[in-house]
Amino acid sequence: MNNTNEMELTFDSRSANEGFARVAVSAFLTQLNPTVEEVSDVKTAVSEAVTNAIIHGYESELKKIVIRCRIEERTIYIEVRDHGKGIEDVKKAMEPMYTTKPELERSGMGFSFMEAFMDKVSVESAVGEGTTVKMEKTIGKGNQLWTTQSI
Ligand code: ATP
Ligand code: MG
Repeated sequence: MNNTNEMELTFDSRSANEGFARVAVSAFLTQLNPTVEEVSDVKTAVSEAVTNAIIHGYESELKKIVIRCRIEERTIYIEVRDHGKGIEDVKKAMEPMYTTKPELERSGMGFSFMEAFMDKVSVESAVGEGTTVKMEKTIGKGNQLWTTQSI
């Protein structure tokens, strides 16, 4: 298709790479001319997913995290994948304030933020195999809404 663009990044599960991942995805996103708010939403969601892979997936072991991004028309599709310990009950894990690491002062809001800031979030996970978080967001929705209303 004409209007697609893809990229893939593999990096170590070091917390220093949270910032790198966030900036790399937002640099890729600029081709859709997002607003400052849209960029910030995507950055937050990517940060949360990468932090989860580092802290929960790999429990701070050094392994690889993969981010894949695809732009199709005005929508960005983002996948954050780890081959860590996996999630036993995804539905429960995604509930607001659910955390398995309260001792680390985690608030259990990571998935809730991803859901709030992105249009769609889904999680595929298998215990002992790893986790893939898939998210998507259509850029420029606010504008379209405004245009439609003003006609
Ligand atoms: P916060 O994000 O607010 O610091 P949190 O990380 O515990 O706290 P969520 O991001 O919502 O909260 O995740 C909820 C729970 O889902 C985690 O406590 C963890 O048990 C599980 N989880 C999330 N991502 C992964 C992952 N990549 N691998 C394994 N478990 C995960
Ligand atoms: Mg989290």
